Amino acid sequence: MMPFIPSARHADYETGAVPIEHSGWRPEQRLPTYKVLGEDLDTDIVVIGAGLAGASLSLHLAERGVNVVTLEARQPGNGASGRNAGHVQTFLDNLEPLRAWGDHGKRFTEFFVEHRNIVFDLCARHGIDGDAVKSGMVEAAFRPHEALARKAALWKAYGYDVEVITEAPLRELLGTGKYRYGVHWREGGRVNPYLFTNGMIAAAVRHGARVFGDSPVMSCRREGQRWRVSTPRGSVRAQRIVICTNGHAGNLFFPELARTQYPLVACGMASKPLSPALLEIINPARVAMTQYPTGLYPMVIDGRNRLVTATIPHPRRAHEAKTYFAYFLRYLHRTYPRTRDFNIELGAYWTGITANSSSVYHEDYPKLYQVDDGVLALMNLGTWGNVMGPQLGLSLAQALATERLDDCMLPLQKPEPVRFQRLFELKTRHLMIPLARVIDRMQLA
Ligand SMILES: Cc1cc2nc3c(=O)[nH]c(=O)nc-3n(C[C@H](O)[C@H](O)[C@H](O)COP(=O)(O)OP(=O)(O)OC[C@H]3O[C@@H](n4cnc5c(N)ncnc54)[C@H](O)[C@@H]3O)c2cc1C
Repeated sequence: MMPFIPSARHADYETGAVPIEHSGWRPEQRLPTYKVLGEDLDTDIVVIGAGLAGASLSLHLAERGVNVVTLEARQPGNGASGRNAGHVQTFLDNLEPLRAWGDHGKRFTEFFVEHRNIVFDLCARHGIDGDAVKSGMVEAAFRPHEALARKAALWKAYGYDVEVITEAPLRELLGTGKYRYGVHWREGGRVNPYLFTNGMIAAAVRHGARVFGDSPVMSCRREGQRWRVSTPRGSVRAQRIVICTNGHAGNLFFPELARTQYPLVACGMASKPLSPALLEIINPARVAMTQYPTGLYPMVIDGRNRLVTATIPHPRRAHEAKTYFAYFLRYLHRTYPRTRDFNIELGAYWTGITANSSSVYHEDYPKLYQVDDGVLALMNLGTWGNVMGPQLGLSLAQALATERLDDCMLPLQKPEPVRFQRLFELKTRHLMIPLARVIDRMQLA
């Protein structure tokens, strides 16, 4: 077999801008491409960006009969949504930050719990072939953690099918005896986020949304009571704009949004399809798996029998596919010693950008900004996009269609710049991730 050779420019890996063709989530068959906006249109709402958030918002607005135009700089799923690790996490790690919200996060939490199966529901309802499988999720630890037990109890009280498990069931689910303690979430699982995003966009179009690709928005100008959103070859006049661009760096319209977030490059990897023998050894229950507390080697086995994982690369080394795959293989060999006898090959390597609104990972929540009159931004989804993106799109579409923005699951707030923006990436990539690797290897946590 041919060795894996990454071929984008180093700088593109570092900025998460490697062509989407590198993403392992791209299917072999071609998906529809959306034509360039080449005219001047009128609509009620313009959605900028067709990732998980923009796709869901477009779909749910169109379903409610709202006239919507979606403008995507490239093609749907080009951003983080086509590049993630495929975990469908139906719980939240830390509810503490919600206490500061007006209603202590009650509306948010209730909506989140009610719609926790949104990925699987949308795929079923719209016939989306997104390899969405409710295979459950396991957080696996080397020793008991009170925080894990508390988390499981909390979500059980919300009606979740979840339990703390120890050695024997962990071994049965994961196929390894390395972990002594964990939480088995029987909800959640995996999805191909690229196919899922594209599926939502295709469904939006079937419901009347007009979607344009290769149409980067260059400016948003007020014209009387309305806005004119311009792309290189056309424009759209609308009552409202919703910006769903995730990382906003480089966008000239409302540049203050770029200061509301901590961008972080992450890399994703997919192995070549595993042999039947390996599939019996590694994660036989095919749960979405993550390690507690480090979460360093998230793992799913997808519908093509490939291992998919993600990590945070060292500064200036994001292009080093072999380095990060080697880290992963060493983890795999430690966890499943029998895999040392097999050749597991890298099939795809890519990078993408996450945008957080908090410098503390577990305190991060997405944001809904009131940027100007008639201009909203739904962004900073952090690493929770697969469930949050569709949920937020649904919730915001309901609120916009009924003109009751206060009903949205997220509170409306003014864009506020974050503090020490550059420091976050330095701290995470230079210190925290390398330290977490040592902790995991030495089984110190
Ligand atoms: C490696 C990695 C692993 C991850 N793992 C997981 C995981 O396992 N589970 C999970 O839930 N989440 C995960 N995430 C996070 C998740 O992918 C994101 O939270 C989510 O995709 C964000 O969706 P979005 O719609 O906000 O942004 P994006 O998907 O980034 O979409 C933004 C879109 O806006 C477009 N755009 C930007 N500027 C313009 C413009 N001027 N005009 C028009 N369009 C524009 C972009 O082209 C892009 O398509 C991961 C992310 C990465 C990078």
